[in-house]
Amino acid sequence: MNGDPVDADKPREACGVAGVWGPAGHHAAVVREMLVALQHRGQESAGIAVGTGDALVARHGAGTVAEALPDLEGLPLGPVAVGHVRYATHGTRDALAGAQPVVLDRPPLALAHNGTLVDPHTAPGADAVEPGEWFTDSELLTRLLLAARAEKGLDTAAALHAVLPGLKGAYALVVSDGHRLYGVRDPHGFRPLAVGRRGDTWLLASETAAITAVGGDVVRELEPGEVLSIGPQGTASSRLEVPDAKTAACLFEYVYFARADSHLSGRSVYQARFRAGQALADHAPVDGSPRPVVVATPETARVAADGYAERAGLTVVQGLLRPGQGGRSFLARDQEARHHAVRRKLSPVPAAVAGRRVVLVDDSLVRGTTMRTVARMLRDAGALEVHLRVASPPYRWPCFYGIDTGRPEELLAARLSMTELAGQLDCDSVAFLSLDRLLEAAGGDRSGYCTACLTGRYPTATPAGAFPAPACATALASQGTAE
Ligand code: SF4
Repeated sequence: MNGDPVDADKPREACGVAGVWGPAGHHAAVVREMLVALQHRGQESAGIAVGTGDALVARHGAGTVAEALPDLEGLPLGPVAVGHVRYATHGTRDALAGAQPVVLDRPPLALAHNGTLVDPHTAPGADAVEPGEWFTDSELLTRLLLAARAEKGLDTAAALHAVLPGLKGAYALVVSDGHRLYGVRDPHGFRPLAVGRRGDTWLLASETAAITAVGGDVVRELEPGEVLSIGPQGTASSRLEVPDAKTAACLFEYVYFARADSHLSGRSVYQARFRAGQALADHAPVDGSPRPVVVATPETARVAADGYAERAGLTVVQGLLRPGQGGRSFLARDQEARHHAVRRKLSPVPAAVAGRRVVLVDDSLVRGTTMRTVARMLRDAGALEVHLRVASPPYRWPCFYGIDTGRPEELLAARLSMTELAGQLDCDSVAFLSLDRLLEAAGGDRSGYCTACLTGRYPTATPAGAFPAPACATALASQGTAE
């Protein structure tokens, strides 16, 4: 989960979005349930806007859904509702200042955005928006849509088609004008968005798991570049006109961001992670005696650890406990504070690891802060050896599409060789899954994924002034083992 210190080491997802359209009812309650199911995608703020026809009424708050929206007081009944959970990657870390949905009136418009725009200030029409009127890229986007509606007399669908092709970057949007509900995926399809039904009610959500969580049936996922409009006359699908946009779905959704019970492009996230773990066992076994046990770093690496153990014929033991939640990462910004935060949140189980060689399986390695502490904790608990196996390639380049990895110089694999990594992490050996094997585990068309943070090959122009490739990137293979 994004906000926990144990996960402060991970790339952090920007947001989760949700929407409901149907016969007037208490759709805010359904959206709230969906946001709870998307809580792993953002814990810094949450909000819901309800459309009543010609008006939108919204509530926002800081923290988790339970903290931000403990009740739905003040939110009316209406045909449409839009919701958002946020982790701040763009603009401000003042959770409430950047809370979404962004809601503007005259004419009414609510927008929930997952992703990040690249150089938003260069978007057509952005120079006409007063600098004081927007702080985040999502606010600017809402202003641009509103201007298209108000000044050019366009309806919401036409405004989406007029504005969005001029933008660069990642956006999965749920939008409402108070009457209708719109779902949009950018032409590269960086971030996911699915549509479902529950009776005569339509549901939109970042992940399929949020649709099934409220008893809905998943209809399908939106295509890259698709605009889906839902209203009293039914649904209508259209495409943004962006020639030559190649599909570039985020590969890290399979590795870490999405829930294991979600499907992406029709494929199970659970199965992708299990296969990645199996491939890791094939590629980077830990031989010798006594035979090792497998320990997963809680919680997202559990499936990959199961795959590793199954393929290697090893036993998974619960060598690490994560007794509670809470303790936000933004309270532990510096490294020393993070070490202590991890020790408070994770507990080694000596009875499971003492006198044993341990294969520690994680899904990804970004800054390495948590891993260093975890390896030390396992040794202190009596582990004879700790061999780290990571079910994805080294994370070496920054993401410009809605994922926060901290400062570029903090990306551990970007500045250390494999041997240095093993020493730095206090592990006996370190190995990563190759990109080839990860793509195979994810399945589908290999050319349809964004792999920029792993390869440095960006599917769009990068922001002006983006830093150069990591210094050691040319000297390192994208996978390897160091003993
Ligand atoms: S750069 Fe990495 S985290 Fe960002 S969208 Fe691409 S694959 Fe996902």
